[in-house]
Amino acid sequence: MLSLSNVETYYGNIQALKGININISAGEIITLIGANGAGKSTTLMSISGIAPPREGKIIFMDREIHNLTPDVIVSLGISQVPEGRHIFPELTVLENLQMGAFLRADNKQTRDDLEYIFELFPILTQRRNQAGGTLSGGEQQMLAISRALMARPKLLLLDEPSLGLAPIVVKQIFEIIRKINTENNTTVFLVEQNANLALRLADRGYVMENGRIVLEDSSENLLSNEEVRKAYLGI
Ligand code: ATP
Repeated sequence: MLSLSNVETYYGNIQALKGININISAGEIITLIGANGAGKSTTLMSISGIAPPREGKIIFMDREIHNLTPDVIVSLGISQVPEGRHIFPELTVLENLQMGAFLRADNKQTRDDLEYIFELFPILTQRRNQAGGTLSGGEQQMLAISRALMARPKLLLLDEPSLGLAPIVVKQIFEIIRKINTENNTTVFLVEQNANLALRLADRGYVMENGRIVLEDSSENLLSNEEVRKAYLGI
């Protein structure tokens, strides 16, 4: 479904990605783990066109996307939930969700999707007329994920959904990510510092250090890998 080949991304003179290769098949949950500043967010932003690569290729469903703008990439079926959520605090929950469907013309489908989202996150139904900025951190994360789903993505990019949330809320959100993957057949690419949780959810994982992929394997193998256990699982 998605392949990155020798992707190099820069911020001015700073090279954040140093030639990375990643392959994701339809239906998978893939995670990218690594320390602060390794280049995980940049990887997602390179895919979604926010930080386009200077070198290399990104192919999504047989189409080169590395030269396309973010809005076109969204319309092809890739939505990103950014780190720190970035919902619209002044808009209501419902208005935030409607913004997620901005590029879509199919009103009936949009209404059905809204219903599906309210089933997935009942708390958002209760809060539908409340300003986004008044929600708790966990509820804002749910809203950010829901807003991305309103674009009907085939591939959902999630950047640190667990950041700053209580363990019980994180558990809830991870269960919903699994549900979105199985029920909705949405492929998921998850960036996480919480490697333990991420590897328990994902089918496969990539480990990133200083702008390079240093390891890739099944989640099961990564969870039992000595280096990974020491560096990322605190065991
Ligand atoms: P974190 O978990 O802290 O977000 P990360 O693995 O997602 O870390 P990136 O945010 O992708 O890492 O950062 C990769 C490198 O690029 C780091 O060295 C970072 O300092 C640098 N970088 C990120 N954003 C910018 C920017 N806007 N301008 C300059 N350098 C940047």
